Amino acid sequence: MTFLIDFHGASSSLRGRDGIARARVRKDGVKATQERLLSSLTSARMRAVRQSSTRPELIVRSIVRTLGYSYRICSPSLPGRPDLSNASRKWALFVNGCFWHHHRDCKLATIPKSNRAFWIDKFRRNRERDRVKTRLLRALGFRTAVVWQCECRDTQTVTRKLRRFLDGI
Ligand SMILES: [Zn+2]
Repeated sequence: MTFLIDFHGASSSLRGRDGIARARVRKDGVKATQERLLSSLTSARMRAVRQSSTRPELIVRSIVRTLGYSYRICSPSLPGRPDLSNASRKWALFVNGCFWHHHRDCKLATIPKSNRAFWIDKFRRNRERDRVKTRLLRALGFRTAVVWQCECRDTQTVTRKLRRFLDGI
């Protein structure tokens, strides 16, 4: 009888079948709860990321200000809401996190071990979205540049890069 229950999931005993069914429901229920909790935590974290400025963004804003350029933050009237932009001078800057935008050949652009396929696809879509944003802005006559999170560790290099970009306008 035990053999039948374990290997075929069927039994003439109602109690046995009921027990298995309940165990299965409970396991799925726990898993579903964990997944819900995880996804609500993830969305909360992603909302927080979107609402507050990241450290690299603050660094870039401070440098651009110091260089004497005025800008708008996340202008809703421009494609992709660039992190910094000036519509009349036609430039737009994106400050990209190396993980989310999957910076090529960067140590910060790791791929989580679990759900690997999901993450690879997510990064591919993020990068495609970045390309579309740039294409749309360039079609409007904007010059665009990306400052990567890892570049912000070296203020002098970022300052040089930003000066070249902004002075070139
Ligand atoms: Zn990087």
